[in-house]
Amino acid sequence: MLSPVNPESCNLTPISGRPMSTLIAKLLRINLTDTFFSEEKIPDRQIKRFISARGLGAIYLFDEQAPAVDPLSPDNKLLLLVGALGGTGLQGFSKWMVMSKSPLTGTIFRSVTGGNFGVWMKHAGYDLMIVEGKAAAPTYIHIDEGGVQFLDATGLWGLDYRRLQAQLKENHGQRTESACIGPAGENIVRYAVIHSGERTASRGGMGTVMGSKNLKAVSINVPIKKPSPFDPASFKELIKTQVDILKEHPRKQTMATLGTPYITKIVNMMGILPTKNYQEGSIPTIEDLSGDRFFELKKARAGCYNCMTRCGGMRDVTLGPFKDSRIDGPEYETIFAFGPLIGLSDRQFIIDANALCDAYGMDTISTGVCVAFACELFARGIISSEDADGLNLTWGNKEGLFSLIEKIGKSQGFGRLLGEGVKRAAEQLGGDALVLAMHIKGLELPGYEPRGVKGYALSMATSNIGGSHMYGRPREEFSGQADPLVESGKGEMIARVQKEQALEDSLIACTFGNTGLDLTMYTRLLLAATGIDEFGSAEKLVNIGERIVSIERCFNIREGFERKDDMLPLRMRREPLQEAGPATDQTIANLEHLLDEYYQALGYTDRGIPGIERLQKLDLPEAVEDIKTRMSTGAAVSPGRSGEP
Ligand code: SF4
Repeated sequence: MLSPVNPESCNLTPISGRPMSTLIAKLLRINLTDTFFSEEKIPDRQIKRFISARGLGAIYLFDEQAPAVDPLSPDNKLLLLVGALGGTGLQGFSKWMVMSKSPLTGTIFRSVTGGNFGVWMKHAGYDLMIVEGKAAAPTYIHIDEGGVQFLDATGLWGLDYRRLQAQLKENHGQRTESACIGPAGENIVRYAVIHSGERTASRGGMGTVMGSKNLKAVSINVPIKKPSPFDPASFKELIKTQVDILKEHPRKQTMATLGTPYITKIVNMMGILPTKNYQEGSIPTIEDLSGDRFFELKKARAGCYNCMTRCGGMRDVTLGPFKDSRIDGPEYETIFAFGPLIGLSDRQFIIDANALCDAYGMDTISTGVCVAFACELFARGIISSEDADGLNLTWGNKEGLFSLIEKIGKSQGFGRLLGEGVKRAAEQLGGDALVLAMHIKGLELPGYEPRGVKGYALSMATSNIGGSHMYGRPREEFSGQADPLVESGKGEMIARVQKEQALEDSLIACTFGNTGLDLTMYTRLLLAATGIDEFGSAEKLVNIGERIVSIERCFNIREGFERKDDMLPLRMRREPLQEAGPATDQTIANLEHLLDEYYQALGYTDRGIPGIERLQKLDLPEAVEDIKTRMSTGAAVSPGRSGEP
């Protein structure tokens, strides 16, 4: 029997005033400790400076979150955000994201996902939800026409996302959509995900933050209420243009058919397919993992709300809790993580391991990197089978590795150590383990070997969220427009792609689903959608992108991050890459020079701290004051250059 924890708190009240269109709505603040909620207007000034989604999340976290908060404490805030263009007829703009301080990295973090939840947020009238505090007992939030309810989730604790979502639909109606966690989030595995339908906000432990708050789900069932653009006729015309572009775009066709698995052969050819814990860069059995071979296993298409690309694919599961069902996957990142990275090229194992992670609610990249770390420790005799609860962790030993994933999800034995993430696990083990942990700022590395794509390496090293492949992707290094093995001159390129990514994350434009759109098109779309002049030129939009990267940087500076943390694992700087075709014997020889170029392009000091003048130019007065104080007190951490390892 469901009962509101505090029915009196269902006090939805209309807010006064509104932005220029209903495309940017309002903020719902939820306090779990006090079982209290309120609605707030998002100030026009913040919308004009940051648009929506990642931009708004960054400024709210900077403004509201005190420094040095433990990410797993009630003081950490969890933000759910949808983009200004979400829920409209635009294709591939209806994803949503989660932001918080990450329990893996201790930095600001954002994790993007699909499914329907973001659009349901729009229908409910919210562009941003800020969840604060911690519930006294397992709780879920339900939003419907009656308001916001705090409900008892004791009976839902322990459920995987499928059973949970089914139960929420039974409780609140079949149109209910939710953002929810599985057992790994409850068990405080540091890389737990948040599910939305079959999709996940995977990286950075956003599900762990949710679990630490005793929050199992946020569910919504409200009538459809489409946002109205500022200039409906122009906006409609632009949607038509986008659809026409997409119909003809070759990359859209590839994504619609093969999805991200098409990438495997390209990265293998470039020698940047991370193999055996980033020791090697390609595998001879790549045909087994090609997009075509995964296509053979595809049973149905899948995708996010209002996306004609629909890049996902449903495939059969043969092992684990989801045996005899289908999952939407695997993506390229899961293929690398449960394939070459751990010494395998078995498609069905990859799908089954993907499903196992889904059942517990864990990020497949971080899980795969932790498993690969354990395999290398085992291969080098640093740990024994006894240390690993009797498991045989030989490279490619499917039975042992599958069991290890399960142990991580349950947070049992050796799995509990790996559930801390590869950085903390290595710190606990000490000695040689420290140089085998493949992470940047605590976030496990993605499926692109940094030594073979020097600009990408710089982007990962400087990313404000740690080792992410989605913080700034230099397409030029993949298209042949820039030599991926050349280091010099990449600083400016990476500063530019990171700004563009920040802009796209603030719309939210799906990297795979917005094919063919450029800055001019974004300008026209935003103008038609919102009528806000500040979005009226490509230059202004790029400026917003830089503002977002800079405010995120300032958040991290306050947390003690600077140049020494813009670092790649020692392996990438010292150990020549093996079995990597054109990238064989590569290292990142001069990261310091790359950092100097990058800092210069963004107006940072040589300690990697945004310069006062540039912050003023970016209209970030709150950051100016903060950085000035820190610089004058020397509180912006230790001076000096990059550390080891
Ligand atoms: S391209 Fe794929 S990830 Fe992007 S919106 Fe479409 S279905 Fe979702």
